[in-house]
Amino acid sequence: MGRITLDKVRKAFGDVEVIPPLDLTIEDGEFVVFVGPSGCGKSTLLRLIAGLEDVSGGEIRIDGQDATMVPPAKRGLAMVFQSYALYPHMSVRKNIAFPLRMAGLDAAEQERRVKAAADVLNLTDYLDRRPGQLSGGQRQRVAIGRAIVREPAAFLFDEPLSNLDAALRVGMRLEISELHKRLKTTMIYVTHDQVEAMTMADKIVVLRAGHIEQVGSPLELYRAPRNLFVAGFIGSPK
Ligand code: ADP
Ligand code: MG
Repeated sequence: MGRITLDKVRKAFGDVEVIPPLDLTIEDGEFVVFVGPSGCGKSTLLRLIAGLEDVSGGEIRIDGQDATMVPPAKRGLAMVFQSYALYPHMSVRKNIAFPLRMAGLDAAEQERRVKAAADVLNLTDYLDRRPGQLSGGQRQRVAIGRAIVREPAAFLFDEPLSNLDAALRVGMRLEISELHKRLKTTMIYVTHDQVEAMTMADKIVVLRAGHIEQVGSPLELYRAPRNLFVAGFIGSPK
């Protein structure tokens, strides 16, 4: 399960309202991309959903339950950080198991989940290595593995590929899309890259200055952009 609804969610930092009241529904299993220029509020919106920021108003529901005041660790969502957030002194196995160790799962269950995640991500042969002994793409997979083992209701990605080179980015894009097909878990993916949005999304949310300009499938946005901002932001479809 992973249906997320935002009802008049808003966020201000001091006197500055960066997200005016916003409504959004993300269906279970959807791959939703938040796209928009730098500073438009993509990360803030994702962090509100994750619980890393408190809302200034409104309500967030996860699978029908009010999650607005629920702390991040109890929301059942997993944020995927860029690969540089790995612990360099720990093996891949320990990096992936880290959230499970923190949650106090027993060693056998930790190992079962790490093996399953490593299998999905083709990391089985790398579990005893350190992050420094891996390629950029493999390191990014370890970061994703750390999210998978938590068996979350949804994965939240904030520009996970932005520190990879162009060729690697294309490969990882395909891998994340493939992972979504396999797991069928809700994914929310933040990017300022139109091509990522158009090629990966079931549903694109175009943001501008904290509000939603348009929501639709890549084809819908391409065929019927609501205004010049959306048209200018969306390239050609896949
Ligand atoms: P994006 O991820 O789309 O680049 P952000 O969500 O990071 O945008 O930022 C949206 C706006 O909120 C920006 O104007 C940014 O300066 C502001 N902002 C983000 N985080 C904070 C914060 N902790 N304190 C004050 N302003 C912030
Ligand atoms: Mg951001």
